[in-house]
Amino acid sequence: MAVEARSTRRFSARNDLRLVVLGAPGSGKGTQAEALSARLEVPAISTGEMLRQAVASGSSLGRRVERIMAEGSLVDDETIADLVRKRLAEEDARRGFILDGFPRTMAQAESLQQILEQFGTRLDTVVRIEVPEEELVRRALARRRSDDREEVIRRRLEVYREQTEPLIGYYREQGLLHEVAGDRTIEAVTEGILSTLAQEV
Ligand code: AMP
Repeated sequence: MAVEARSTRRFSARNDLRLVVLGAPGSGKGTQAEALSARLEVPAISTGEMLRQAVASGSSLGRRVERIMAEGSLVDDETIADLVRKRLAEEDARRGFILDGFPRTMAQAESLQQILEQFGTRLDTVVRIEVPEEELVRRALARRRSDDREEVIRRRLEVYREQTEPLIGYYREQGLLHEVAGDRTIEAVTEGILSTLAQEV
C-alpha cells in the first residue's frame, strides 16, 4: 500500500520524470513517447522530428542533414548534442522530458549525462521497447513510404545494431534499464511502460 501510494505520486502527472525511450526503428518508440507525454504531462522530445522540421524549413541545419537522413545514416554527435542542449534548456523541459531517438550513440549518451549534470539533474529511467526482428521487418515493409527504399530500411537497422544497441548494456549497468515487450497493441505497450515506471520506485 505504501509502495503503491509512493509510486503513484512519483510517476503521476505534475512530477518530474526524465526518461529515455530506446528501441529499434519500427519498435514504436515515437508513438509511445507521445502517449507517455500525454499521460505524464512532460514533453516528448524527438531529435528525428526536430531534424525533419529543419529540413522542411530549409534552414542551414536542414540543408546540412538532409542527405544523411535520406540515406538512413546518423547525423554527427556534436550537431545532435547542441540541438538537445538547447531544447532541454527550454522552460517546458524543466520538470522532465521523454527523449525519443536520442541518445543513439555512446558519445551521445555521455553528452546527455554532461548536459543533465550542467542542469543539476540526471536521468531517472531508460525504457527499452523490445520487438522481435521478424516483426520489425514486417512493420518496416508495411509502412514503407515511396522514399523508404529497402536499402535505407536495412541501413537504419544496421546503424541501430552497431551504434545504438550498445546503449542497452550501458544503461543496464547503471541500473536504469527497463525492458518492455513491444509486440502488442499500442495501448498495451503504453500500460506496460506505465506499470514498469510505477514499480520501479
Ligand atoms: P527518427 O525519426 O528518430 O527515426 O530519426 C530520423 C533520422 O534522423 C535518423 O535516421 C537519423 O538520420 C536522424 N537522427 C535522429 N536522431 C538522431 C540522433 N540522435 N543522432 C543522429 N542522427 C539522428
